[in-house]
Amino acid sequence: MPSYTAPVEDMMFLFEKLRDNKKYNELEKYKEVSSDLVKDILEEAAKINQNLILPLAKAGDENPAVLENGVVRTPPGYKEAYKKYIEDGWTSLSCDPKYGGQGMPKTVSAFFDEMLSSASLSFKLYSELSIGAYNCINHHATDELKEKYLPKIVEGKWSGTMCLTEPVCGTDLGLLKTKAEKQNDGTYKISGQKIFITSGDHDLTENIIHLVIARATDSPAGTKGISLFLVPKFTVNDDGNIGPRNGISTGSIESKMGIKGSATCVLNFDEATGYMIGKKDKGLNAMFTMMNLERIVVGIQGLGISEIAYQNSLAYAKERKQGKTNKTKSTNGADFIIEHADIRRSLLNMKSIIEGERALCFWLSQQTEVSLNHQDETARQEASDFVSLMTPVVKSLFTDLGMEITNDAMQIHGGYGYTKDQGIEQLYRDNRITPIYEGTNSVQAADLVFRKLSNKNGDIINKFIDLIKSETDLDNEKIKPFTKEFKYYLDILTKFSEWINEKKTTDKDDVSAAANDYLKTLGFVSVAYAWIKVLNVSFKDYDENKNFYEDKINTAKFYFDKVLPRAEQHYKSGISGSLNIMNFKFN
Ligand SMILES: Cc1cc2nc3c(=O)[nH]c(=O)nc-3n(C[C@H](O)[C@H](O)[C@H](O)COP(=O)(O)OP(=O)(O)OC[C@H]3O[C@@H](n4cnc5c(N)ncnc54)[C@H](O)[C@@H]3O)c2cc1C
Repeated sequence: MPSYTAPVEDMMFLFEKLRDNKKYNELEKYKEVSSDLVKDILEEAAKINQNLILPLAKAGDENPAVLENGVVRTPPGYKEAYKKYIEDGWTSLSCDPKYGGQGMPKTVSAFFDEMLSSASLSFKLYSELSIGAYNCINHHATDELKEKYLPKIVEGKWSGTMCLTEPVCGTDLGLLKTKAEKQNDGTYKISGQKIFITSGDHDLTENIIHLVIARATDSPAGTKGISLFLVPKFTVNDDGNIGPRNGISTGSIESKMGIKGSATCVLNFDEATGYMIGKKDKGLNAMFTMMNLERIVVGIQGLGISEIAYQNSLAYAKERKQGKTNKTKSTNGADFIIEHADIRRSLLNMKSIIEGERALCFWLSQQTEVSLNHQDETARQEASDFVSLMTPVVKSLFTDLGMEITNDAMQIHGGYGYTKDQGIEQLYRDNRITPIYEGTNSVQAADLVFRKLSNKNGDIINKFIDLIKSETDLDNEKIKPFTKEFKYYLDILTKFSEWINEKKTTDKDDVSAAANDYLKTLGFVSVAYAWIKVLNVSFKDYDENKNFYEDKINTAKFYFDKVLPRAEQHYKSGISGSLNIMNFKFN
């Protein structure tokens, strides 16, 4: 079984030294979230993840969730762990105190999300969608629905799901067939089949609150006729107590490559009572509140799995001896594989990506909080534009790099990585879903180039580039080698963005074919931007903690020398166009 130590020191470094967003620091509601409080939370979070949840990863992989006589049973140990998990209040960390939450900012809850993803993604998924459902209900439902459902979701006694996918409707939600028939009392009868529903049924909570998209019988075809409904597994009486079972049954659960402890269900809705959330035919807008926040969390899943893969690779490389290095001091026997240049390169590749991603994610968490809570509308809007620009990037880049890192981790472990001995191959299998669900990474890239670079508020990508420039024009001599290099790649990003904008008016296939490359260029440059922030602090406060900052500076150097150049390779590939691709004759 892989071991795991939560990276609390790095997280505290970010919280204390990189909380540099002036508008975030103006948010009254977080003024009392002190470093001491956050440290206490992270240390407790580390304990529960390292001790209680980590062993569930193997247990879930070896004993997947099963459907028995119409009831879904989670793997051994899940029920006990979930009970403790909710007793300790982990589901409510970032929820509104009005509904029993602890009101912590995303700058803190994102750290918890990362730890939980490292410990066991399967276990995490049982509460993850609950928080997504909480956000969606909180933003779009009536006060009556909020008061009835949110406290129990926040407490963790009820969980949530997101029901979009159907047999013929995956990426293209306009194809959905589930229908909603209005009743005289204003409720709807929901009928249809949803597939691949994460935590669609299980034995951890008393009730499951499904958020289901469906088409009202008098609504138009396509995405313009989709509404959103709250459909509980058990109906809920006016006094808040659980009533009779609703018309929902579990058809089957999927047998999967990874995240086997997570129940992925086929749900059949047969005239189930549902309550509309938000406006009729505007269901996708409401659902996007859930999906956008979820996409960032899926990116964090990739980061968390990368972290545990790195930690175990490093430990293994320090204990496995094979071959001799060019400068070996050993006269007989072999050197530890961590002495080999290529293994060192691979480890540094992981470390520089992971720490850069974590810093970028921390920047994004601050922006998210400003977008949701700042009193000034312009500040909210500007932050919201940056969040929507960066959401597909974080979702796709972090999960794709999660595949690279878990793959490299397996390689470092050699044959023992491929066999089940060390539990490394499970990390690869578990991560493999992350580039697929919550909108595939290709679809994220298309979303980025066609919808996120500019919007009604203007040219968002250029605003982002201006923001970066305003923060990287620095006098610090020591950081100049990094900023000089960084500006070169920032120019590439600018040129690539102009190319995309021009091609949008002349040849959309060129844009589609370049979308994945563009996302990567923007992603690698954004991670470098996060590293520049880290470097600023590292040089400024060097004497405070020499070892820590020396490590940061040298890790950043690797990122700038060996990882960031990929931004240019993607630029060159992207601007080569789509002619050959589109004209190629597949036999
Ligand atoms: C383990 C697991 C858990 C899941 N959990 C949930 C859940 O909780 N709720 C839920 O609703 N769904 C869930 N899903 C479904 C998941 O979100 C979908 O599988 C995913 O969105 C892709 O849809 P699809 O499988 O139908 O693939 P398709 O949409 O058929 O896509 C197939 C391929 O075509 C590409 N493609 C599709 N459209 C385009 C386009 N316009 N441009 C370019 N390329 C395109 C895709 O990128 C992909 O490579 C889950 C799936 C799995 C496997």
